[in-house]
Formats: sequence, structure tokens, C-alpha cells
Amino acid sequence: MKVTFLIPPVLDGTKNVDRCFGCNYSIYFLPLLPVLYAATVLKRTGDEVSILDFPGQKKTEEELRDFIRKDNSDIYAFYTVFLCQNTDLLARKMIRETRPGVKFIFCGPQPTFAPEVFLDKEDSFCARGEPEFIIKELITALKTGSGVDKIRGISHYSSGITHNPAADVIADLDSVPIPDRSILDHKPYFNPKLRSMPHTACLTSRGCFGRCWYCVPNSLSYARELEHKKEFHKKPAPRMHSARRVIEEFSDIARRGFRSVSVIDDEFLWDDKRTLEICRGIAPLGLEWSCLCRPEKINEEVASAMKSAGCAYVDMGTESFDEKVLAAIKKDISGEDTKRAVRILKKYKIEIELNVLLGATPMETEGTIRKTLAEVRRLNVDYALFSIANPFPGTDFYYAAKKEGWMFYGDYVPKDPAKNAIISYPHLSKEKLEKLLSYAYLSYYLNPRYLCKQLFKVRSLKDLTNKLSTAFNFFRKNFFEK
Ligand code: SF4
Repeated sequence: MKVTFLIPPVLDGTKNVDRCFGCNYSIYFLPLLPVLYAATVLKRTGDEVSILDFPGQKKTEEELRDFIRKDNSDIYAFYTVFLCQNTDLLARKMIRETRPGVKFIFCGPQPTFAPEVFLDKEDSFCARGEPEFIIKELITALKTGSGVDKIRGISHYSSGITHNPAADVIADLDSVPIPDRSILDHKPYFNPKLRSMPHTACLTSRGCFGRCWYCVPNSLSYARELEHKKEFHKKPAPRMHSARRVIEEFSDIARRGFRSVSVIDDEFLWDDKRTLEICRGIAPLGLEWSCLCRPEKINEEVASAMKSAGCAYVDMGTESFDEKVLAAIKKDISGEDTKRAVRILKKYKIEIELNVLLGATPMETEGTIRKTLAEVRRLNVDYALFSIANPFPGTDFYYAAKKEGWMFYGDYVPKDPAKNAIISYPHLSKEKLEKLLSYAYLSYYLNPRYLCKQLFKVRSLKDLTNKLSTAFNFFRKNFFEK
């Protein structure tokens, strides 16, 4: 079978979506790992498989139409997050008009959360939860005509919608093959905070032990979580690759000529033993890499090992420096945890991005926000990402916001959390939150102390171009686009 994983250009008049994380519009592009996993599994079974990333390649709607006219794929697969649902459905409509009779597979968090939205005809299937092995079984069934009724994790249409029972979460993550990065043209991908190129991304675990009530983890973890919650009403336990397997994947990445890696796990620093073993194993490869972690996981030994292994920056969710707000959102850290982690990371010269969330609980006030922003400025980290808390469908925050009437539009509507508020409390309105968000960015990034620090860090013309282009895109997106 010829299977094409399609990431269409924006077709619904909105913006490019970051499908790796799922809850944001994109400023830059990363390779879509969940699709790469599925494509790798299919390639190993002998299917002809390709991944076409139209937004990454800066290709237009007209080029998509042209591609469809000439293409002869049997199956088109989409990895869909909420914000690109309409685009993917419009792409299917376009393909149906030109190539009736082909089949469609939808996977990712949105087809897991609401499969019925995608199932209007017998030509379409949803692979819920973790998609790679489910898609493989589905395509085998389509090839052999053996029927899909027994495939767990599938929703399908046949004179009505049927949701087959859920598949188990993948117990042994090492059974998932190392993604074959040759399937995907990596030229469009970079991370402006990492200087070395070419660049790729990597996922060494799925899920997170945290209980933050607003949490939308990376989109693969979220699909897995949404599927599990339907039956068990709680998050599945996180699963991680063994240190040996992570070292193997980094070695494969280095062998293929990549020079930098974004590790996009919700949490990379699971336990010190694993982290130290991974760092020892990958240090000789000379790769530059980044990861996300919780501040309480940072200690001197871990930070020193990370630095020696090539870690250039870490991304930490601190969200607030008000203890009551942190308790209300179930963050299970204190402001002191973040300050201690920042001190240690600075000592080992690992750059830091702090994520700050405004309005994730009605405990938040203008006062708690201003206090948080002042603390972040005092810490003077390399990057600060400010967002307005988004009650994303499926999160505990969403259900509370809906019940208590905290959503300005009465329900969730797709908005850019780096710019627009959906939340509006009686004491902290949508408009006020949006003003505070602008203030957060302007007071942080136009601060002369910060600007000087950035200028001194520029290492090359390419580095400067990347920084300027990211800053330009960022300010255009947040302050000039509607
Ligand atoms: S620590 Fe991060 S990934 Fe884990 S639950 Fe909290 S927000 Fe989600």
C-alpha cells in the first residue's frame, strides 16, 4: 500500500499549528515525531510510505491541489490536533473530490477525543491513542480485507459509527523502533535556541507523573492520556525508553549527520540514575540538545552531567511565583524550587526558558501576576514564555471552567494563548489578562539588560539571523496579527 502522511497547509484561514505540542500556533517547525514513528513501523512492514509537511516546506494550497492531482496514494493519514481539525477535514474534502475511493486515517489527540467528527463515510478511520501499531494493524486489515472489527483502538463508520475497545498503552516503549529520520526531509526544522544544524527532535518518554490541572502535554502524550481517561478516568502511568535505547537513538541521530536535538518529552529528567547514564552515553557524540523538565529534578550532579553531554538549554514550567496559585493549579512545586534550579543551571551555563502561565485559577489576581513577572525579571533567564491559561478540552481546568462559567465565550474556542484569553474571571477580565500578557512580554524582552545579554551571546551570522527572524515572527504574531 502507498501511504502518505499529510500535513496540509492552512486551509481554514487560521495559522500554522504546532502539531508536536498541539495547543499553540507555530513560530518555527519541528519534525512531527508521532507521524515519524508510525511511518517507520509501516516502512518496516514493506509499505511505501512518505511524509509531506506542506507548512514546513512553505508550500501553498495550490501546490497541495497539484500534488493531489498527480498523486496515487492508497491511503492518506493525518495527525490532527484540535487547532488544525478544520484544515485536515478540508484537505480530505479536496482529496475526495479529486480521488474518490481512497482511504483516510486520522490519528492524534483530536481524533482520539472526538472521533465522530472525522467519521462521515466508510472511507475514514480513526486510530485513537498511540497510533503506530494500531495503524499498522489497520493497514494490514485493509490490504487483506480481513475487516476492522477486532482492531483495538479503531473507530470506524459503517452505516453508523463504531468505537472498538481501546488498545492498551504501549507497555514496553523500547518495542517502538527508532524513528527512521530519512523518511522526512529535515531541512525546514530548527530550534532557534540551539545553534547547531541540521536539527531533529526526539522523544524518550510518554506521559508525565505531574497533576497540573491545566496540562496539555505534548500531543502524543495527550492522545495516549485522552484514550486512557475514557476508560479509567485517570492518566496512564508514564512510560520511558531505557537509557540504553536513548543512547542508541542519539547515536543513530549523530550517525545521520544531525548536530542538534530538541528532546520534547514532557519531562526528560525522570530519575537521576537514568539521566546520568544517558548523559554519560551521549556525551562523546558531541550533539547539542535541549529538554523540558520540572525544576525540582535539577541538582548539581544532574546539571553538571547534562552540560558535559551537550545540553544547551532547558525549558521549565514555573507558571507562577505565588504559592497559593501554584497550590490551586496542582503544580506541586514552590517558587523556591524554581529559583534553586535557575541558580544551579546558571552555574553550569545551561540556558533557561521559564514558562509562565497567567490566569490558570481564579486565585490569580493582577497582584499575583505582577509579583510573578517581577520575579521572572529578577531571575533574568535567557527566555521567558508567557501565555494565558487555556482551558483545553479534556483537561480538569476545562471542566471546572465550563461548570463555573469562567470562559468568556461560554465554551472553548480556538484562540492563540500567546495572545488571546478565553478565560475571564469577575475580578480578572479577558481584556485585563491580555493587557497583562502584552506587558509581560514587553517588560521582559525590551528590557535593556536582557537585550545586552542576548547580543553578547550571538556566535555567528546564522545565529543572529535565526534569533532576529524568530523575534520578528514572534512579535508579528503576538502584536500585529489579528
Ligand atoms: S509537569 Fe508539565 S507535563 Fe507534567 S502534568 Fe505538569 S504541565 Fe503537564
